[in-house]
Amino acid sequence: MTTSPLFYQAGPALPEVSHADGVYLWDEHGNEYLDGCSGAIACNLGHGRTDIRDAMVAQLDRVAFTYRTQFENAPAVALAEALVELTDGALEKVFFVSSGSEAVESALKLARQYFVATGQPQRRRFVSLRPSYHGSTLGALGVTGYQPLEAPFADITSASLKVPGPDFYRHTDADDASHVERVLAETRAAIEAADPGAIIAFVLEPVGGASTGARMLDRRYLEGIRALCDEFGCLLILDEVLTGIGRTGTWFAYQHYGVTPDLLTTAKGLGAGYYPVGAVLAREHIVNAVMESGGFQHGHTYAGNPLACATGLAVLEAIRRERLLANVAERGRRLEAGLKALQARFPWMGDVRGLGLLWGVELVADPRTRTPFPAAENQFARMTALAKEEGLLIYPRRTLDGLAGDHFLVTPPLTIDAQDLEILLARLERALT
Ligand code: PMP
Repeated sequence: MTTSPLFYQAGPALPEVSHADGVYLWDEHGNEYLDGCSGAIACNLGHGRTDIRDAMVAQLDRVAFTYRTQFENAPAVALAEALVELTDGALEKVFFVSSGSEAVESALKLARQYFVATGQPQRRRFVSLRPSYHGSTLGALGVTGYQPLEAPFADITSASLKVPGPDFYRHTDADDASHVERVLAETRAAIEAADPGAIIAFVLEPVGGASTGARMLDRRYLEGIRALCDEFGCLLILDEVLTGIGRTGTWFAYQHYGVTPDLLTTAKGLGAGYYPVGAVLAREHIVNAVMESGGFQHGHTYAGNPLACATGLAVLEAIRRERLLANVAERGRRLEAGLKALQARFPWMGDVRGLGLLWGVELVADPRTRTPFPAAENQFARMTALAKEEGLLIYPRRTLDGLAGDHFLVTPPLTIDAQDLEILLARLERALT
C-alpha cells in the first residue's frame, strides 16, 4: 500500500514519469520507454509537440473558458465544421464533451430523446456486443460487455441486450462468410426475442479496441447490422472513441467499410493527450427532432470550451499537414509484417489482427486448440511488465470472461517513423524472447 492519496486501481507501485519527447518517455531514474500504445491510445501525435502547445497558449492568452450558454466561441464552431467535413457531410451535427465515456453517454441519451421526441417512448433498450468496452459512466457501462466491470451494476447493465460479434480467430464455421451469416442470424433472433420495437440503438466499435485486442469485424457484418437497424427502425451508434481521428488510416474506421452510422462518438485522439476533448456526431434529422421538442436535456460544464476546441483543431491540422493518414497506412503494413514474423517464432501469439496502427495480439496457451492461458496466470500483466523492462509500453487487457485469451495492443503514435518502428519491434522481440 502506498502513502499517496491517489487511488486508481490495484497494482504495483509505478515509476514517476519525468518527461517525454516524440515517441519516447523517461522516468525519474532516467529509464527510456518507447510509447508503443500512445498512453491509452490517446497520444496520437507523440509527446512534446510545440505546434500543439503554441496553439493552446495562443488560445489561453485570448480566453481559456467560456460557458456554452453565454457565448459562442470560434474554435468550437471551427472544430465542429472540421469534424463534419471528416465525415464528408454524412453526419451534420456535433455535440462536444470531455471524454469518451461522456461521448457514449451523450449518444445514448440523444438517441433515447430522439425516440421520445418522435413518439416512440417504448424504445428503451440498447443492443451491444459482448465483449466490448464503451466507458465507465453508468450509461456507457450499461452497453459495455465486460463482466468484471459490470458485476457490481448487474441490474443496470442487464437492461441492455448483449450479443456476440464475429470471432474470426475461433469460429468453427465453414468459412468467414458463413460465420458472419450465422452471427447475424443469431443477432436477429436475439433482437426479435427481446422485442425489436423496444430497441433504441445498436452500439458497437467498427474495430474492437481495448476490450477485444483489436478483434476485427468486416464489411458484410457491418452491412448486416446496418440493415438490421434499418429494418427494426433503431439507430446505429458507432463508438470511434479509440478508432477515430486517423488511428486506422482513415479519419474514421467506418470509412473502411462504407457503412455510415446515425451517431458516432470520438474522443481519445482528438485531444491527442494535450487536452480532454470528445464529441458526438449525429445526423441532422435526429438532432432537429430533439431540439424542436425542447432541446437536448444533457450537458457538461467543460463541453466545447475554447481551449479544448483550439487543441482539437491544432491536432486535426497537424494530421493533415504531416500527411499522417498515409504514414499510418505505410507504418501499419510494416507493423503487421513485423508482428506476423514474431508470431511465426512465438506460436503462443495465437492471433495477430488489426488495421492501420491499431494492432492486437492474443496470447494463447495452445495455438492448436486456441486455448487461453488460465486467467490466474495474468499473462497480459506479465507481458506488459517484460515489455516495460525492455523499454516498451504496450496496452494490456485481462482475459475477457473466458471468451478469449489475454491480449495486448500495439498502437504507437500516428507520427512514428520507420526507424522508431524497428526499435519498437526489436524491443517487443526481446520481451517475447
Ligand atoms: N469507448 C471506447 C471504445 C473506448 O476505448 C474508451 C476508452 N478506453 C471509452 C469509450 C471511454 O473513454 P474515456 O476513457 O475517455 O472515458
